[in-house]
Amino acid sequence: MSSRAEIDELRCSFCDKRRGDVRRFVAGHCAPPYVYICNECVDWFEKVPGESPGAGERRCSFCNKPLGEVAKVMAGPSDCICNECIDLCKGMLDEA
Ligand SMILES: [Zn+2]
Ligand SMILES: [Zn+2]
Repeated sequence: MSSRAEIDELRCSFCDKRRGDVRRFVAGHCAPPYVYICNECVDWFEKVPGESPGAGERRCSFCNKPLGEVAKVMAGPSDCICNECIDLCKGMLDEA
């Protein structure tokens, strides 16, 4: 059973804000373990230069692409997201 309170306790994988504290939340779809990104981090991605891709064996936590194959990457404490997934998330955020 997942109550509204439990959903509000989910945290953004990048800024660690709680679901209940941000406007929108997008869940990664290729997990588990599930990754989430909030609308604030999606906006933030546009403003940061991004990590240099191709670091070791890391893959995008959302689409599982090797980071060497994407144009731009934002890395959180344990997860990362590529520019292509940010575009998808933006589309989802714009819809509702
Ligand atoms: Zn966030
Ligand atoms: Zn990706």
